[in-house]
Amino acid sequence: MSAELVKELCAWFAREQRDLPWRRTRDPYAVWISEAMLQQTRVETVIPYWRRFLARFPDVRALAAASEDDVVAAWSGLGYYRRARALREAARAIVERHAGACPTTRDEWLALPGVGPYTAGAVTSIALDRPEPLVDGNVMRVFARLFAIDAELGRPATAKRMWERAAELVPRRTRGAVRPRNWNQALMELGATVCLPREPRCERCPVRARCAALAQGRVGELPVVAKRAAPVDVALESLLVRDGERVLLEQRPASGRMARMWELPTRERVPGGARPRLWPAHYAPQLARARIGAQPLSSLQHSITTHRVTVEVRAGRLELEPEAPLRWVRSRDVLDLPLTGIARKVLVSLTVAPSARRRASSSAARTPH
Ligand code: SF4
Repeated sequence: MSAELVKELCAWFAREQRDLPWRRTRDPYAVWISEAMLQQTRVETVIPYWRRFLARFPDVRALAAASEDDVVAAWSGLGYYRRARALREAARAIVERHAGACPTTRDEWLALPGVGPYTAGAVTSIALDRPEPLVDGNVMRVFARLFAIDAELGRPATAKRMWERAAELVPRRTRGAVRPRNWNQALMELGATVCLPREPRCERCPVRARCAALAQGRVGELPVVAKRAAPVDVALESLLVRDGERVLLEQRPASGRMARMWELPTRERVPGGARPRLWPAHYAPQLARARIGAQPLSSLQHSITTHRVTVEVRAGRLELEPEAPLRWVRSRDVLDLPLTGIARKVLVSLTVAPSARRRASSSAARTPH
């Protein structure tokens, strides 16, 4: 049964796969970057970022030699910035340990900082056609349905079971379309395009005859997912202070969430229109006498993991020259900085030069974070 399943799904993938730019290369570096970007982010969003990133950092050495700020700036708008920092750290380790050549084994990849089992399996199987398993959210959903596995997703024991199943199924040899590269991508492709979370397209599924959930009438029940926490509403107020062609930004502290990224001066509001809270302490004294517009210039929505953020943007004026961590930045340069997702949205919509806005519109407007 397993051999037939693998054969049918690999044949389907060879016929039906989407034409994605990273599928036209066997360069492990390019595949690695695509896999890092695709975690938590939609394919359509990733495509322009992947192209720009590779144009700017075409190989491991270029990425290793770049400053953290440059790498995070190239990532700006994709969210989950620790991925960008981890890529740079791993690139530096590859230069040190492997003279700049991408590793060829799963264990070598796993030894790099920030590289986990999924990435190690993805790069070695997809780029190098090694018989290494991989499991991501799509694969878990497909396995849960195909094999009617009713263990709850998110539990370590369930993940272990899924990885064991993936290891059993990955082809050891290559025979035509049946090869590790095709099998692993076929599983993820099936989850992304056919075996969808809410409305799986079973009528179009190439392995429906082998699907236990379909045979048992349990497609709607599987996979078993723990209840999600309710989204948390967060209300913020950002201050837009302009001085001719310059805009006032703050660089966040060197540690903690979104470390060293740039944003507009921002403070929390209590939802429901009550008075805003205080400005962050490290620049509050500089804004103590700022004049703040009575009416908001605009209001934006933004989602970060389980948080639904509403940002009110107000115009402001400073009486004094700003000091660190506040700084004037020319409008045409702002998009070259590593900006937080919220700052990017606000600046693209309200302030930046038209040329910069055009540059950003293909990416930031589609960014989910
Ligand atoms: Fe998923 Fe339906 Fe195919 Fe089963 S038949 S694997 S539930 S798409």
